[in-house]
Amino acid sequence: MRELIERLYREQTLAPGELRTLLLECRGEDLDFLMQKARAVAQSHFGNRIYIRGLIEIGNCCHNDCFYCGIRKSNRHLKRYRLDAETILACCRHGYELGFRTFVLQGGEDNYMNDDRVTEVVTAIRTEFPDVAITLSLGERPTLSYKRFFQAGANRYLLRHETHNEAHYRRLHPEDMSLSNRLRCLNDLKRIGFQTGTGIMVGSPGQTVDHLVEDILFIEQFRPQMIGIGPFLPHHDTPFASCPPGSLTQTLTLLSIFRLMHPQALIPSTTALASLTPDGREKGILAGANVVMPNLSPVEQRKNYALYDNKASMGSEAAEGLRLLAQRLAAIGYEIDKSRGDYPGKTL
Ligand code: SAM
Repeated sequence: MRELIERLYREQTLAPGELRTLLLECRGEDLDFLMQKARAVAQSHFGNRIYIRGLIEIGNCCHNDCFYCGIRKSNRHLKRYRLDAETILACCRHGYELGFRTFVLQGGEDNYMNDDRVTEVVTAIRTEFPDVAITLSLGERPTLSYKRFFQAGANRYLLRHETHNEAHYRRLHPEDMSLSNRLRCLNDLKRIGFQTGTGIMVGSPGQTVDHLVEDILFIEQFRPQMIGIGPFLPHHDTPFASCPPGSLTQTLTLLSIFRLMHPQALIPSTTALASLTPDGREKGILAGANVVMPNLSPVEQRKNYALYDNKASMGSEAAEGLRLLAQRLAAIGYEIDKSRGDYPGKTL
């Protein structure tokens, strides 16, 4: 196991069978060793500094029906909301004062948020805050829409592929969605010039170790600038309500593998990981993550952006809890970095 980890550290790649072994057998002291190596790589590029992104959940209306997601259109028990442009800008102003220099606008796939409305918001943020990075996470769109968002001043886009295996994709999504369209979107985003993020949920229903190996190989060849990895967590009003959450060990193993394979990538320690276990944020950072995304949405809406049960959005998970976050990071030897935190390498 140690030899495999050393080789991954040196060569940034392993054969599929070796990745499989790592995923299945790296436990206890071996996992500590893997995480230590991943941490060393993250520190060699980013020091002991953690970038912060202000997450603004702009709406929970969605025309998709992904089986895992609490804001899927079939969930009739959710209070739906949309933030208007002025509210989104107010969140940005609040965030800017707190020191955020990246805003992430995430939301369900909502026809109301058409190209004109998204472009208008992006332009307004870009005009008022020329020095911030604007990240969008608004799902699958036509090529032209992505071009418009980029021209309006958006810099980054997050779109997890969720799984690179066709059969597994079908297990997670209804008929009207397709893996090929998701991959088309990712290729578009990268070609247009976005710093592009992709990723998966760990332990999503039906996922096998072989699927995870496929995901690792896809991400290896796609070379995203950002990699989003968090555990699947069940939501009580979805078809997967009684499925178990993804495992902490597997999430940390994957975070470390991705850090070793993509030394310069921006890798968040996700809210889902923080929601899985009380010190999840810290564990993710100790496994090689270098980004956190505190919640900057209006407090009264946070509970309605319910992707899964028991979502952490207050205290050190909240933008207004930055001091608490700083204390928790200091306790593990890290500090907040308030710069924009762009991808340090070449983008294409
Ligand atoms: N609709 C856009 C999209 O699909 O990229 C953005 C919003 S979507 C809710 C953001 C991410 O939430 C998804 O990529 C998915 O990985 C994650 N997510 C949804 N349901 C989840 C669950 N039950 N557990 C963990 N993560 C979940």
